[in-house]
Amino acid sequence: MKNLKKLLALALAVLFVFSMAACGKSDSLTVEEGKLIMATNASFPPYEYKEGKDIVGIDAEIAGLIADKLGLELEIADIEFGSIIPGVQKGKYDIGMAGMTVTDERKEMVSFSDSYAKGVQVVIVTEDSGITSIDDLEGKKIGVQEATTGDIYASDTPENGGFGEENVTKYANGNLAVEGLKAGKVDCVIIDNEPAKAYVKANEGLKILDTSYTDEDYAIAFNKDNTELQTKVNDALKELIADGSVQKIIDKYISAE
Ligand code: GLN
Repeated sequence: MKNLKKLLALALAVLFVFSMAACGKSDSLTVEEGKLIMATNASFPPYEYKEGKDIVGIDAEIAGLIADKLGLELEIADIEFGSIIPGVQKGKYDIGMAGMTVTDERKEMVSFSDSYAKGVQVVIVTEDSGITSIDDLEGKKIGVQEATTGDIYASDTPENGGFGEENVTKYANGNLAVEGLKAGKVDCVIIDNEPAKAYVKANEGLKILDTSYTDEDYAIAFNKDNTELQTKVNDALKELIADGSVQKIIDKYISAE
């Protein structure tokens, strides 16, 4: 009888520990249970931009399909580009998805999914600027979006192919950088090709230089500790790439321009 009681107590204890572990596990897949919180910077058309109150674009739609596959509800947080990686690292957001280029420095801070799109850094100038090549940018005022790869390249020293921090004006987003160019505060803006096309289309008197700067891969960023979420999201992304859904979304936004 005594042994039976002991056994029962032990069984209950084991059950308790297991149920706690199970709870802990389901809690830890995402920041908020049942939700997939994506951090982005919604002034990067056609990847993410505002249409009224909604955030739409290639990244928003791909993330929506991923969330569906995982049975989660997508929530989008619109923050400055430079706050995305720190926010994911701190566990404030589940994923960072913002036309984000995979770089070695970023790989030390977050982990990345497979790449789902390509980017190219290009240079926007005013039609009457007289700037025709990257070489003409020496001594000019360069506008960038803070903390982006365009900023990182341009701010580097001339020996490393940059133009020096002192020649670079850092804006909180692409919209503001283009406003700075239109107002004559900077002579050019270095930014990714697709947003560049969208900005040139939406603003009179601007053009993109023929020479491009660098080729890049876009991917989704995760907290390094959340390998379970990374695997699940990456598997969903792989399926969406394989069945053509990702290409369909890209074509919808990029051919629609
Ligand atoms: N692809 C660039 C980067 O990762 C710019 C991204 C963005 O401005 N949203 O830095």
